[in-house]
Amino acid sequence: MFDLSGQVALVTGASRGIGEAAARSLVKYGAKVVLAARSGKDIERIAAEINAAGGSAKAVTCDVSDYDDVVKAVETCIETYGGIDILVNNAGVIEPIARIEESDPEAWGKVIDINVKGVYYGLRAVAPHMLSKGSGTVVNISSGAATGALEGWSQYCASKAAALSLTRCGDKEFGDKGLRIVGLSPGTVATQMQVDIKASGINPVSQLDPAVHIPAEWVGEAICWLCTDAGDAYRGVDCSLRDEDVRKSVGLV
Ligand code: NAP
Repeated sequence: MFDLSGQVALVTGASRGIGEAAARSLVKYGAKVVLAARSGKDIERIAAEINAAGGSAKAVTCDVSDYDDVVKAVETCIETYGGIDILVNNAGVIEPIARIEESDPEAWGKVIDINVKGVYYGLRAVAPHMLSKGSGTVVNISSGAATGALEGWSQYCASKAAALSLTRCGDKEFGDKGLRIVGLSPGTVATQMQVDIKASGINPVSQLDPAVHIPAEWVGEAICWLCTDAGDAYRGVDCSLRDEDVRKSVGLV
């Protein structure tokens, strides 16, 4: 299995879904975790459950579209656990799903604030700390939408394409300084996001049988795997969890 003992991880969007699963997997492999999201009660509950089971977790309320909040979350890692080794840039939204001619410009921009600026803010906030010690892993949660196009998802596709670009740029700037900047495209995952997608009825993804979605726990395991030396193969690119070889390497099949 993966040895992440002693490492300190910050997971954004940790109040449910993939972020919650990532936090629980990271703890399972020995990391201490700071859970960040807007829903304070949910991250407090998850952190309490982790601590009661013998792990180390702390919750910090954070809106990733606010740079000061992201800095506060990173500082919580340093003040509570003495540093930061792993950042999982997971927080993301897809709503409001709407065709371009019907979309609301302000709401469209809010998705960019969260899915793009949030990823940049995370990188910006951890970079000085990781650079000063010459190590660290950032996993940006991507999507097939980073390179594909779907009706009603212009805000989401554009934002994930930009997040992939940030993975590339991060690797270009930090890859030779000991930092591992990777993307993870999980495929479709059984979370609230897929419930919202189904309700929209707007494109082929909304027509999928929910049985085809993978559990969030698989993505949590893949994130931990990418935080080991195995992640080096995916520096500056998106690793696809649809890839059977990747699933085998993670130990999922
Ligand atoms: P989810 O269940 O809807 O969870 C989204 C998480 O993001 C929640 O914890 C939410 O917490 C957090 N979040 C949203 N806006 C935030 C903000 N401004 N600041 C901080 N946290 C925020 O969705 P999910 O499926 O787990 O999605 C997680 C990531 O996976 C996203 O980046 C998504 O694009 C990506 N992804 C998902 C799928 C899929 O099929 N589910 C596929 C490909 C990629 P709060 O509301 O409490 O803030």
